[in-house]
Amino acid sequence: MTDQAARNVSLEQMDTDTTLHAYTALDEHLKNGPERIIASGNGIYITDTQGRTYIDSMASLFCVNVGYGRSEVADAISEQAHKMAYFHTFCGNANEPQILLADRLLNGLLPQNMSKILFASSGSEANDANVKLAWNYQIFRGKPKKRKIIAREGGYHGVTVMGASLSGLPIMHQAFGLPLDCVIHTDKPHYFWGGNPGESELDYSKRLAKNLDELIQREDPETVCAFIAEPVMGAAAAVCPPEGYFQEIQKVLDKHDVLFIADEVITGFGRLGAWFGSELYGIEPDLMTLSKGITSAYMPSSASVVSKKVWDVISATHPEMPMFASGSTAAGHPIACAAALACLDIYENENLINNAKVVGKYFKDQLNERIGDHPLMGEVRGEGLMLAVELVADKDTKEVLNLEWDCSHRLFDLCLEEMLITRGFFGHNSSSFAPPLTITTSEVDDIIGRFEKGLNKLADELVADGRWKPKN
Ligand code: PLP
Repeated sequence: MTDQAARNVSLEQMDTDTTLHAYTALDEHLKNGPERIIASGNGIYITDTQGRTYIDSMASLFCVNVGYGRSEVADAISEQAHKMAYFHTFCGNANEPQILLADRLLNGLLPQNMSKILFASSGSEANDANVKLAWNYQIFRGKPKKRKIIAREGGYHGVTVMGASLSGLPIMHQAFGLPLDCVIHTDKPHYFWGGNPGESELDYSKRLAKNLDELIQREDPETVCAFIAEPVMGAAAAVCPPEGYFQEIQKVLDKHDVLFIADEVITGFGRLGAWFGSELYGIEPDLMTLSKGITSAYMPSSASVVSKKVWDVISATHPEMPMFASGSTAAGHPIACAAALACLDIYENENLINNAKVVGKYFKDQLNERIGDHPLMGEVRGEGLMLAVELVADKDTKEVLNLEWDCSHRLFDLCLEEMLITRGFFGHNSSSFAPPLTITTSEVDDIIGRFEKGLNKLADELVADGRWKPKN
């Protein structure tokens, strides 16, 4: 008899009694229990313990890129667990899947100037490690005062003390007394909201680069270590760089001898229809952060990728600092690396990167065609299979829909009624889509059909209680 049966307690009750859930209103969870208990998954579908099947148009948290229920990955995990489940990678210890994975990533997939990989388990940890590597680089170059890290408003870089500090979301700071003093935020590059009337995208990019230049000068370039950015912003809902943005930013960073950390936790492994966002946007990162798609979340894994430029400095001998004194127990975990190798096989054998490009374009075109004219629709945006729509009260004047109404989460709930999982956001009225890269055009049609129903219900609600009136 299981403990649960002996105590006559439901899974729902056990969860309520025992678990502090991430990104969850704790009082509501105590009152209502878990939203759903997911039992199985297949392709783009997940099914809960009550037998309800949903389309997951978000690949969970932008991560199940190869789709649910892939036995190839499960088999690779099982095989590795039976053969050699774990030995650490400290003190120069290695294992076969970790070696093969690093080699495969560096020789053919990652940008050519990348030289070494430091594995960890989560995106947050890998971002922390990248900041440490950037500090390490500056210290070893004799520039220990270069400590400040510039991130962007609206960016998301994780939940560790540094990851949350880098993230440009007030909700992640307020309750914890963050950000750390060494983190500064600069503009979120969202042309739809930030561009001035008549200003071209390129001019907007130049203006933001000038703002960054002035910020670094104000702070003193001798104190600025690195800049971190997601190629396309996830928590800001698929905010893509405006034309020329990264080129303009890169010029400023080069001028002030500031490193570029590309946080590719979401954008890596094909999400944008290219292996990495850096390649798509011509970014030349000094450090890269990978996670999510590396194993499609079948196992926790992440990586800090070190360029030759940084490696050459940090690998030099420093007698007073005899080792790279950082790294976590699960770094280079053989089961996670075996899962990653199986995912790489799937990406390549099924041409998923190209599928993300082709079906992503179809998805965006269909969103524009089918709901682009909806009176609530402000912007359809994104790249590859990282897409979003943003609602407005008036599409001509871009009047904001009152944020207190929390239309983003309301729309999420209304889509759930259609058995569609999307993504709600705080602080902006967006909804986003990032399905498994295996998605087909007919599945896209199904998602948009369900989303349209949710959107129409939201419009009806807003009209019914007089909060909003569509413009004729
Ligand atoms: N960076 C980006 C761009 C992310 O989207 C995330 C998570 O969503 C992270 C870092 C943090 O990754 P993790 O949740 O694995 O710590």
